[in-house]
Amino acid sequence: MIPVFDGHNDILLRLLLAPENREAIWLTGEGKGHLDLPRMKQGGFAGGFFAIYVPSPVAHDSASYMAAMQTPPYKLPLPDLISVTEGLGTGFTEAALLLWMERSSEGQFKICRRASEVRDCLSKGVISGIMHMEGAEAIDEGLDNLHAFHAMGLRSLGPVWSRPTIFGHGVPFAYPHSPDTGPGLTDAGKRLIKECNQLQIMIDLSHMNEAGFNDVASLSTAPLVATHSNAHALCPSSRNLTDRQLHMIRDTGGMVGLNYAVGFLNADGRKDATCGWDPMLRHLDHLISSLGEDHVGLGSDFDGAEIPEVLGDVAGLQRLVDAMRANGFDDALLNKLCHENWFSLLDRTIAA
Ligand code: ZN
Repeated sequence: MIPVFDGHNDILLRLLLAPENREAIWLTGEGKGHLDLPRMKQGGFAGGFFAIYVPSPVAHDSASYMAAMQTPPYKLPLPDLISVTEGLGTGFTEAALLLWMERSSEGQFKICRRASEVRDCLSKGVISGIMHMEGAEAIDEGLDNLHAFHAMGLRSLGPVWSRPTIFGHGVPFAYPHSPDTGPGLTDAGKRLIKECNQLQIMIDLSHMNEAGFNDVASLSTAPLVATHSNAHALCPSSRNLTDRQLHMIRDTGGMVGLNYAVGFLNADGRKDATCGWDPMLRHLDHLISSLGEDHVGLGSDFDGAEIPEVLGDVAGLQRLVDAMRANGFDDALLNKLCHENWFSLLDRTIAA
């Protein structure tokens, strides 16, 4: 079994929406969604980034949005900005839920605040978690809340989800479309990037538009990272990275995690989950040829997206490993893609 460390999941959102069911969702498994402790162990899930995400009042998976995304071309409007007061309440609850996941697991799951702790967890068979924030809705302009979340364990942050914040503009979901969809970071956003560098909080570019991406590239002293994004050359979604962006990430020693969302994998942009392994393998090939084999990993989007049926859920991860092996990847490369590259990226971004 090759252990898999993963760039992005949304189990905290599932827990937020059904708090009365949290033991079943996390500890025993209810057979729904993509993630729970028993299925993680079954699939060789070694750990990953756990996203604090504030849902929009009109969810991006609402019926009308889903229908639009089934029939490309589409261009969904950006949802409205969410106030810091509202974002803070939800963000705090999700951080508390991640702490509960650790506490209730009785040693089976640990929130890691240093890169060395992640390796330590792997050697002990403990599942590791990095606290990530997808969209900085919970952070105030003065950045006091950033320090508070850092003290709770936050080590990774995307300034925007696909929705504006006081820090910048997200990239709207559109196909076919370039990621160049609007203005970049605000002045507060530029201060946020500097403060994240200072605190050694990793900055995630996955939901940034091209102008915001360029702003981070020119301001940040850390490697550029997109935790869950794919290649625009193979699926021209606004959420995917152009070759120019991939080369900029490569030049900083950064990293891209393959997103399993079928809408960002399939060449025709359709949410067709019967696509088999091929789209994932073609994107991996392209990412490896653009970035080099030390700068590509996996970023599932488990519990946040519709994924290929052949994979199913986290328990199917070793079938993905088998498909990668059949694609010609040897054990050394599989280990890099599945966990080693994320581990050394964490060495270069968060405290050792
Ligand atoms: Zn996302």
